[in-house]
Amino acid sequence: MAAEQVDIAIVGAGFAGMYMLHRARGMGLRAVVFETGDGVGGTWYWNRYPGARCDVESMEYSYQFDDDLQQEWSWSERYAAQPEILRYANHVADRFDLKRDIRFETKVTSAHFDDADGLWHVATEGRNGAVDTVAATHLVMATGCLSSANVPHFEGIEDFEGDWYHTGRWPKEGVDFTGKRVAVIGTGSSAIQSIPVIARQAEHLTVFQRTPNYAVPAHNHPVDPERETWFKANYKELREKAKQGRSGQLYSVRDLKWGSEPLETAKAEFARRWDLGGFSYLGAYVDLLVNKEGNDVAAEFVREKIRETVKDPETAELLCPTSVIGCKRLCVDIGYFETYNRDNVSLVDISKAPIERLTKKGLITGGKEYTFDAIVFATGFDAMTGSLNRIDIRGRNGLPLVEKWEAGPRTYLGLTTVGFPNLFLITGPGSPSVLTNMLPTIEQHVDYVSDIIEHLRAHGQKTIEPEQEAEDAWVDHVNAIAGGTLYPSCNSWYLGANVPGKPRVFMPYPGFPAYVKKCQEIAANGYEGFRLG
Ligand code: NAP
Repeated sequence: MAAEQVDIAIVGAGFAGMYMLHRARGMGLRAVVFETGDGVGGTWYWNRYPGARCDVESMEYSYQFDDDLQQEWSWSERYAAQPEILRYANHVADRFDLKRDIRFETKVTSAHFDDADGLWHVATEGRNGAVDTVAATHLVMATGCLSSANVPHFEGIEDFEGDWYHTGRWPKEGVDFTGKRVAVIGTGSSAIQSIPVIARQAEHLTVFQRTPNYAVPAHNHPVDPERETWFKANYKELREKAKQGRSGQLYSVRDLKWGSEPLETAKAEFARRWDLGGFSYLGAYVDLLVNKEGNDVAAEFVREKIRETVKDPETAELLCPTSVIGCKRLCVDIGYFETYNRDNVSLVDISKAPIERLTKKGLITGGKEYTFDAIVFATGFDAMTGSLNRIDIRGRNGLPLVEKWEAGPRTYLGLTTVGFPNLFLITGPGSPSVLTNMLPTIEQHVDYVSDIIEHLRAHGQKTIEPEQEAEDAWVDHVNAIAGGTLYPSCNSWYLGANVPGKPRVFMPYPGFPAYVKKCQEIAANGYEGFRLG
């Protein structure tokens, strides 16, 4: 029997996949979405760990493609928690009747482009191992930037007799840590959010820290109804204004460079922004991720706050990061540092003595065994490329994507890659993605892909693929921009440095407005840098 044929195969039913499906239908195209989980929501489906919450303000972390949708939905808190965001994702899916074209519990195992018929052949594995193949003109990878869980290959993991969890693969039914001795490994955003909540439940919590992280307070609170009314009345203007911000958000980034004000004024500005909470802290000066001197002062301000908060001076010092602030994604916390003042919480520094192995009862580091009932790996993700590389994607002449990207991802606009016609990577490496509010970034990419497909159809063309020179120039451009910042100065997942053996390449594109402008210019010039055929 001939394989089912569709216009667009979409991988992933998170916010990107859902919107892509909606746009595809609007263009009268036959589209199908494949999703490993049994529900929509992507990141927010998988990351159900205690304390999981958005670090972008909820009034901004939502779709803007439909005014009725944004007017009717009400967020309860300044920073929405995971269950509420998942409810929103389901609301959108139901409102636009998306679920009927989403194949849940269906994993894409391979996607091969066939030069002979010009189609993508997408192989899937569904419930009870049922395999299937769908042929598609376009393949849209809406697989998310932080979807491939990174569980370090600790020796002895299979010996551990307690339970272990990864924050990004949290059990749906939740976990009760009451009366349990719990270990959390890692101190990134996921750990910083979950540690205060787990500490309130567990009998004892031990945090294993390899590198301390900067966190600024969320000052979370219920959404003020007056502010909501004002926001909704001005949504259009506010959304436009947010797009002019470098991260696609409304928080203010002053058009002032470090050194333009006296030191005391600068410190007062950091204090003011600390009190506001959230990412605005790094908007005090426009060049804080370029100017090391300014960055040092911003960083020291946070270290002082940690020392003021954490009562035990030794623990406080261990919690003080020394790297560039903002080099890794800034964490937004609720009572993280205060948690170390609890009697049932201890911190173990593993920067000089890594975890040697897991044992039946716990783990060994520095020659000492620590015993636990449960271990939480808050160890992050194989970011940006992980979820693409774990699918066997092959382009023209059977070239595997992993092979092409052996030395790091190479794309044009973070959206397409030479040798893989009609393959679109939503918020792929080389696009602003994780440096921004993901929702507007996703919408911009999905709209761009939709425009490309309409353009192809209007011109009777079937394929689009970047030119080699355009891709090379784009990769050089992203590297040059990142190289002019302080981002490459630390071992972040932006660089792939958290996954052993991963090539060290800065993956996201810093600067949302400049990126959007470039995309628009390319489209206006007849999709310059692309080969349409
Ligand atoms: P992450 O930032 O990569 O943090 C992982 C942590 O695990 C780091 O502290 C890392 O230490 C540690 N680690 C990794 N491998 C280890 C090993 N073998 N031994 C000991 N420690 C190890 O991951 P994440 O916290 O899941 O956050 C990832 C990203 O997801 C965030 O940056 C953010 O973009 C997003 N996120 C957002 C929110 C939100 O607020 N909306 C919440 C959670 C996540 P090193 O630093 O030394 O590598």
